[in-house]
Amino acid sequence: MQENVPHAGRGETDGEAIPHWHDPDGEAMTIVEGEGATVYDDEGSAYLDLISQLYCTNAGHSNEAITDAMTAQMERIPYVSSAKGNDVRDALADDLAKIAPGSLSEVYFSVSGSEANEAAAQIARTVQDAPKVLTRWQSYHGGTAGAGSLTGDPSTRSTLGRYAATTGSEKFLPPLPTAFDADSPEDLAEQAANHVEFVIQNEGADSVAAILMEPIGGTSGGYPAPPGYFERLREICDEYDVLLIADEVITGFGRCGEWFGIETESVEPDMITFAKGVTSAYAPLAGVIADEWIGETVREEGYDLGQTFAGHPVACAAGRAAIDEYESHLIDDARELAPVLESRLEELAATHDVVETVRGRGFLWSVVFADPETGEPFVHPWAGDDDEENPVAAVREAAADRGALFGNGRPDVQILIAPPLCTTRAELERGIDALEEAIEETFE
Ligand code: PMP
Repeated sequence: MQENVPHAGRGETDGEAIPHWHDPDGEAMTIVEGEGATVYDDEGSAYLDLISQLYCTNAGHSNEAITDAMTAQMERIPYVSSAKGNDVRDALADDLAKIAPGSLSEVYFSVSGSEANEAAAQIARTVQDAPKVLTRWQSYHGGTAGAGSLTGDPSTRSTLGRYAATTGSEKFLPPLPTAFDADSPEDLAEQAANHVEFVIQNEGADSVAAILMEPIGGTSGGYPAPPGYFERLREICDEYDVLLIADEVITGFGRCGEWFGIETESVEPDMITFAKGVTSAYAPLAGVIADEWIGETVREEGYDLGQTFAGHPVACAAGRAAIDEYESHLIDDARELAPVLESRLEELAATHDVVETVRGRGFLWSVVFADPETGEPFVHPWAGDDDEENPVAAVREAAADRGALFGNGRPDVQILIAPPLCTTRAELERGIDALEEAIEETFE
């Protein structure tokens, strides 16, 4: 492991690179090593990774239990056709059925979160014999053509343009105070859920296969639902025979204090989609966990869709080891530290008037900024991620200069926090100190 030398002061991006496009000559930070909650760049600078890269290295970096399990599997047999049986794949499916809530027990593997959501949508259409899957504005479910049509965030939709509307996904408003004129969180929950019922009625309940939602909004702003929202949605889904699908790509595997984010609400979904944390991102793996009857129906109806790398044995070995790590201590450790994170962030909101609110659950939080004089975001919320005038981006840069990495939301009006579950109290405190100093430097 490299020495923990002071960071060289390079920010997260030069503002020129197109996100996710390979850019070998750009100024973007180049991360080359990691251990626990720390990553190191190519100049040897250390950064606390308080965003688990992309909300996914839940067990932290370089966890030996996971890398050893992957090596052992590579030495046994690295790949087995996804159309054949494999012992490790079967064992992981059993593990997932055990940790999934209620009667969710049928596992369908895919490779990425986008593909898992497309699969869940297609499974819902198959068993319901109905074409539409409803999702929220201010949501993220993936960037491929099908999953992109489920996504309700402005940057994805502007990239996909009119093609984002082609695969039977209609949108409804999220349960956010900005979307409704509500007097209280309970009123917001009721108005937002009634609105979903109105959309289902107007789309025609027979044409709606499912509604698909993140239990706690992820990259769209780390927002939990107001109390009672999910209970009411479950009632509406039952009344209109619509499936409820929880996109747990970010919120799964201990991120919000339980195995799955939906368990922090008192409802059971019909399907869960997962990715990222299942292997702590040590290898790409994703999928759907469906209620027993859904698996049975799909088997009867036939469902001939699959992917070569779905349920890759090396990824499945990583998944089994990661689940062991979560179960043996990581979920409990993070649950114990979550109140520290929450109280530090609430203090930040109470003492800095540019912080409009903080919201989240467990180890997934969002610090939302607004101009204290107008109550409006500093940049127009739909301006895009790379607006150079955006002070929220400047806060992230200043925090990175202090050795702490945070995430950006879509739209970029908040800072997202999703530390690895192995982050220590001292690291958490150091990271929030860096954020506080960064806010003060940016807005002084
Ligand atoms: N769902 C959610 C909630 C996500 O946050 C993401 C990615 N950040 C996806 C789906 C898509 O996953 P992937 O990038 O693996 O396709």
